[in-house]
Amino acid sequence: MVYLGMLISGLLLKQFLGCPGNFCLKNMDKKILEQIKKDLLAQKKKIEEDLNAVSHKDEYEKEEHKVTFPDFGDKPDDNALEVGEYSTNLATEKILESSLRDINNALNRIEKGTYGICKYCGKEIDEKRLLIRPVASACVECKSKLQKSS
Ligand SMILES: [Zn+2]
Repeated sequence: MVYLGMLISGLLLKQFLGCPGNFCLKNMDKKILEQIKKDLLAQKKKIEEDLNAVSHKDEYEKEEHKVTFPDFGDKPDDNALEVGEYSTNLATEKILESSLRDINNALNRIEKGTYGICKYCGKEIDEKRLLIRPVASACVECKSKLQKSS
């Protein structure tokens, strides 16, 4: 009986620890969540480095990056190269910035304890999906419904 009591209190404790916010993540393993968080932070660092290579932070807008205009020289050929490089950087910056936004949103959801909850139906997103795509904020069903309607 003592053993059973310990088992039950252990389960209760586990459930309690798994509910940091309004949403209960009792099915989401803490270890998996930690792993996902680590991956997200590593990705974030990488993207920020890539962003710094093509842009500099805007002093006035915290989250925005300004693409650096390259300076190869003053000859017409150099100028053409600069414009080409600039538009490539612009495109790269756009992709990087939106990935960064997704990652920050996912990290926010981890902090708030709402990570792994589909933003459309409120159900838990499959762990396997989250491990492959940690920034996912919608479950497979909602995502495919959305893709069909658009
Ligand atoms: Zn859903």
